[in-house]
Amino acid sequence: MPRCPHCRGKDIEWRQVEGRGHLASFTRVLHPFDKSRAHRLPYVVALVQFDGAPGVTLVTNLVGDGIGTLSIGQAVEAVFRTNTAGTTVVEFRTI
Ligand SMILES: [Zn+2]
Repeated sequence: MPRCPHCRGKDIEWRQVEGRGHLASFTRVLHPFDKSRAHRLPYVVALVQFDGAPGVTLVTNLVGDGIGTLSIGQAVEAVFRTNTAGTTVVEFRTI
């Protein structure tokens, strides 16, 4: 984001965080609202809050075998995937 989501300030910077967190919210997408993602159905969109970085939340996707039995507060860790455009994206899986 170009601005702080809390105060709209521009004085922001990148900071490293641990790759682990917990599930704050999630939804399962069953219908192809976005044609570019239709091949990934069903998929899970989640809000992950990072351990050791209070207030830092990321909108991401959950992947892996654990996505069928999710619960709020569940521990997750980052995984990296290269998409079809060659860009590396961060996703999370349950641990
Ligand atoms: Zn701020």
